Amino acid sequence: EKLLEYGLPRTYIELLKNRGITKLNPVQKSAVKKGLFNNKNLLVSAPTASGKTLIGEMALVHNTINKDMIGLYLVPLRALASEKYYEFKELEKLGLRIGITTGDYESPAEYLGRYNIVVATYERFDSLLRLKPRWLNRIGVIVVDEFHMIGDPERGPILEMIIARMLSSRVQIIGLSATIGNPDVLAEWVNAELVDDPYRPVELVEGVYDKKNHVIVFEDGRRKKIIHRIGGAALNISLQSISSGIQVLVFVHNRRKTEEWAFKLSEHMGLFKHLIDKNKLSQILEELKESPSRLEREKLEYLISRGVAFHHAGLSSVARRVVEKGFRERIIRAVFATPTLAAGVNLPARRVLVSIKRYSPVRRRTVNIAVYEYKQMAGRAGRPTYDPYGEAIIYDASSLSEGMRFIRGRLEPITSKLNNERSLRIHVLALIASRHANTLDEIINVFKNTLFAAEYRDLAYLKSTLDIVLDDLLDWGMIKSTGNNGFVATRLGSITSITYLDPLSVNRYLENVKDNVGDLYYLMLITQTPDYLRSKPYISNKLVELYEEEALELSDEGIIPEPPKTFDYYDYYTWLQSFVQAKMLHEWINEVGEDEIVEKYSIGPGDVYSARDTASWIAGALSRVEKVLGNTFRANKLEKLSLRLEYGVKEDALELVELQGIGRVRARTLIKNGIKSLKDLVNTPPSKIESLPGFGPRLVRSLYEQLRERRD
Ligand code: ADP
Repeated sequence: EKLLEYGLPRTYIELLKNRGITKLNPVQKSAVKKGLFNNKNLLVSAPTASGKTLIGEMALVHNTINKDMIGLYLVPLRALASEKYYEFKELEKLGLRIGITTGDYESPAEYLGRYNIVVATYERFDSLLRLKPRWLNRIGVIVVDEFHMIGDPERGPILEMIIARMLSSRVQIIGLSATIGNPDVLAEWVNAELVDDPYRPVELVEGVYDKKNHVIVFEDGRRKKIIHRIGGAALNISLQSISSGIQVLVFVHNRRKTEEWAFKLSEHMGLFKHLIDKNKLSQILEELKESPSRLEREKLEYLISRGVAFHHAGLSSVARRVVEKGFRERIIRAVFATPTLAAGVNLPARRVLVSIKRYSPVRRRTVNIAVYEYKQMAGRAGRPTYDPYGEAIIYDASSLSEGMRFIRGRLEPITSKLNNERSLRIHVLALIASRHANTLDEIINVFKNTLFAAEYRDLAYLKSTLDIVLDDLLDWGMIKSTGNNGFVATRLGSITSITYLDPLSVNRYLENVKDNVGDLYYLMLITQTPDYLRSKPYISNKLVELYEEEALELSDEGIIPEPPKTFDYYDYYTWLQSFVQAKMLHEWINEVGEDEIVEKYSIGPGDVYSARDTASWIAGALSRVEKVLGNTFRANKLEKLSLRLEYGVKEDALELVELQGIGRVRARTLIKNGIKSLKDLVNTPPSKIESLPGFGPRLVRSLYEQLRERRD
């Protein structure tokens, strides 16, 4: 009944009860006291699993129920967006309509106005601010999850600009953040009340492995001897934990090592094999069969049967789900994971092993990570309601005292990453193209609301970068001067901003594009853009160098763009890297098997997925640019390339893959059997299709249903 005091609807309180929530915890109470329901901006800085999501959810419910308002929930990653979307789906019981939007940067999505609550990625909402759907003025509250991302070089500036623009509206802003060093500074910036609370529902005990004495020293004085059986502290601690029935999540900064260590540990898991629930195991392994890669299936099947797994961005989404589920259901006793990915997923463990060292390619040596990075990993320890407490153990400290410095260390402040040319040229063009700002003064006025301005007060430093950026945009024909420091976007500038491409990507493409060249040339135009390069899968230097000769030959023949004319080794190397990436994508669209690609380039199926996703987006976006410029031929070529990248097929299969359930493999099977188009398919008896490999009765039924719907 305590929940009633806050004026939340009864139906919602019932729903919370069913989730086991009968009263607010200290952080949540404090948020309410500071004005959560009184339209106050709030910044909540509290540890993982302290119930921050519920704070956001309550604000969304309170703001939108019985009102014509829209509540927005923003997250940094797509995977997180769908996780939250499914969580909020439950609110439909209250009559609220829940929507999600993550990709499709060019759609103004007026239909989203039908929803009460919309989950979106930062990027997608940023794109919506340019497209200005009518429902923007009905937003009542914006919840920003992972607010500390403001300090991220990639996503930080996007978030900063979103907030800067929201600050001049009356929208309530609720920031949710892991513990950070300077929450007061950030709170002041967003005119927010600060809720800074170390409350954790499960206590956290931190410790360091002292390698000299083979002992874990916990901050509370406890010591635990570790018996040395295998190579490496992380493996020994893992093995010993598992023998005492404790699950471990091991963070490893190097992706290759997550796999290597998982295999090493699995050699010692023979004794535990009989402890695994056979039913659950076979269920999990059944789900794994959906993975698109044989190699991935084989590795994980072997490991999971022995209670071990790895988790990193190279995994296919199927495999990722299987590993997370297997760990939650305690079939998997140890997971070796890279931190970037695990930061987003809900994967708590009783014991977390943390590495505080990482190789820096820039400095070419191992460096220590930041204290807040350590704290975020450590925060994963302890599962609410299951564990009496969680344990985080640093396993690679050079010395006991170094490890203790991390445990007792002061969190670094989060700072603005806005002042770089890439961010500024993207956002300046967006401001001008959406007519949010038409003069230099108006542009500067928007920047006055950024964290950058709050940090420096004086914008002189930013202004010099602004000058460079405006000059570039003028040079590239994306904006025009209207005199008196005024600017307007050209057609090229407007379409560039709408596609959400980096203006530099568009400019590079236009400078290098040629007619009478093949797919490989176009693919390389795509892989040379900064939009591709910043999220490209990692292909090792050694591998890239193997293709140098081939690249030089092809460029001599004009089959790929020429190497850069500068004598900068870095530029040359980027060109080579782009070539190998283009070659990989070229194989993908020519139906080379996924496993063959994965093995040849030493990448994972998840990498192929994200590479083709990015490349397909860029190709489609460039196609729209060409269309606006009146180059229909190129526009069509790029459009087709975009679809081929999405499905991984040759041109003749594009028609068939439009059907749900038909991917690259099944489409080729059909074509080989003389069924080359949808029309052919209509004219083939179902029994013939069913006799083909990979076509079950259920699929065939659905295909004919889809064909019928198309005819109607
Ligand atoms: P955060 O977003 O801070 O990482 P979550 O929102 O994921 O934390 O909350 C962790 C868990 O605690 C969730 O399972 C949630 O349902 C539960 N929880 C949150 N608030 C309460 C509460 N007041 N009482 C009981 N359980 C709660």
